[in-house]
Amino acid sequence: MTLKHGRQFLSIPGPTTVPDEVLGAMHRPAIDIYGGEGGGELLSITTRCLKDLKTIFATTGDTYIYIANGHGAWEASIANVLSRGDTILILESGRFAVGWGDFAKSMGIEVERVPGDWRRAVDPGKVKETLRADTKGKIKAVLVVQVDTASGCVNDIESIRAAIDAAGHDALLMVDTIASLACMPFEMDKWGVDVAVGGSQKGLMTPPGLSFVAANAKAKERHKTADLVTSYWNWSSRDQEEHYRKYAGTPPVHLLFGLRKAMDMIFEEGLQNIFERHRLLAGATHAAVDVWRNGGSFDYNITEPDERSVSVTTLLLREGFRPEPIRAFCFDRLGVTLGLGIGDLSGKAFRIAHMGHVNAPMILGTLGALEVALDSLGLTDANSKGGVAAAAAYLADALRD
Ligand SMILES: *Cc1c(COP(=O)(O)O)cnc(C)c1O
Repeated sequence: MTLKHGRQFLSIPGPTTVPDEVLGAMHRPAIDIYGGEGGGELLSITTRCLKDLKTIFATTGDTYIYIANGHGAWEASIANVLSRGDTILILESGRFAVGWGDFAKSMGIEVERVPGDWRRAVDPGKVKETLRADTKGKIKAVLVVQVDTASGCVNDIESIRAAIDAAGHDALLMVDTIASLACMPFEMDKWGVDVAVGGSQKGLMTPPGLSFVAANAKAKERHKTADLVTSYWNWSSRDQEEHYRKYAGTPPVHLLFGLRKAMDMIFEEGLQNIFERHRLLAGATHAAVDVWRNGGSFDYNITEPDERSVSVTTLLLREGFRPEPIRAFCFDRLGVTLGLGIGDLSGKAFRIAHMGHVNAPMILGTLGALEVALDSLGLTDANSKGGVAAAAAYLADALRD
């Protein structure tokens, strides 16, 4: 018997659920991008999106929209500020900063790493030590993710900036916010981030295919001498006035219709409210996991409660348990798709996303389905029943006036 027929729930950490309003905004014919009314409309969308991205990144720096997924923005960020033979420092906290570093390596960059633990956030103390030891200033940039979507950790970007400053080091701070932008606070200027990278398909509720880079004055200064710059990613050519320069060719018309609508929805709800919504939905998820983990089949991957992200929860199976039966039950029998463990956690973990266009019934529905799976598969016992009741109680408390 299956109960999956009805609206399918996609509870994976990207691509996330696209709101019907965003899908609707994209459902229209292409317009003339070269002039007339259509050209005017699209130019206005571009201008407003670039400006609103500054608000979302919290920067007065320059913003760029690439027709690419997050990996494209990784390459764009490296190409615009670095030169062949430069050294960068990767701060490991899971999969994604390391992946960014692999891209840099393939482009001719020397990559050093502050090794991390897949179960902890980056330790700013280690960053300070490593940079202090670099007395010749060989390291040109420090690359880190705000939320690592594989491990589920959140890194303290402000403290990492403080560590760089305490070491008296001049490296650029480059931050991947793909899994955290518009889910939790990110303060590019206030925190001293020089380059920030984002993507459309997670907190920004838009289909995959657009990614964003923001750069401050220090990054733009480095850009002037960077020899990895190529025509397509080039900030300088995208800084020119003509509309086609902004995309190095045809604008991604329909994705821009979608992005514009998504941003309108974001500002209508308000960034602070969005952050609070994510915090509470993550809190509800954690309340359920706090009960289920007593059953002995899985636990949080991230051991420290305040290092767990508000956008995704990674659950690590204990020895002798596998995630596949849980995911398969949720999908085949209940219509909920949970995220797979990836990287070092492949075959050992599963993930619950609570990022982007999600509300209480969606999270409670996902948690409820997971609890059905756990109970039905015999993965709960007397100590670990009632995770969903705990999540409901958490929200009831949080919402009580
Ligand atoms: C999803 C993700 C990426 C990769 O984005 P793609 O669009 O799949 O290329 C990079 N970094 C983080 C933190 C992510 O969550």
